[in-house]
Amino acid sequence: MAVTAIDQLIQLFARLPGLGPRSARRAVLFLIKRRESLMLPLAQALSDAAEAMKSCDICGNIDVTDPCSVCNSTRRDVSVICVVEDVADLWALERTASFSGLYHVLGGTLSALDGIGPEDLAIAGLVARAETDRVSEIILATSATVDGQTTAHYVAERLADCGVKISRLAHGVPVGGELDYLDDGTLSAAIKARREI
Ligand SMILES: [Zn+2]
Repeated sequence: MAVTAIDQLIQLFARLPGLGPRSARRAVLFLIKRRESLMLPLAQALSDAAEAMKSCDICGNIDVTDPCSVCNSTRRDVSVICVVEDVADLWALERTASFSGLYHVLGGTLSALDGIGPEDLAIAGLVARAETDRVSEIILATSATVDGQTTAHYVAERLADCGVKISRLAHGVPVGGELDYLDDGTLSAAIKARREI
């Protein structure tokens, strides 16, 4: 049986995080009933975003410019870099508006199980940034999972000779998950109560 455009759409939606086949069907039907007001604008927005998005050469953020709007801003504190696992974490921190420094996206965590080593993450780029005169503090905001802790440890060791202060988000936060799952208040508090390691 031929797969129709609608079937294909449902299959694609079902691959999104948090959506299974059932919610994908509901979402697609919702769109079909709002063809003019939602479906076509969504299709256009997806196409525009796919066309425009760029990965920032400096920090790894995803934006429509390279360098990204954070790296390009003249209002950021360039002496502090917050190291995160994923772009979602960077966006979560930006949403809280409680951090005014720059970021560095590692692109994951070290994981023996998944065969992810230091060369698979953006660690060399971070060390290069830390070695410049203007950087005085690096905040390690990787998750409190075993892999996240191992990664923070490893990165701290690699930065040991850079002459920068290294700190970690306040203890207990985030526990076993991405920063994105924390509410803004908790995240702001974790940044403010960071401890030097
Ligand atoms: Zn950037």
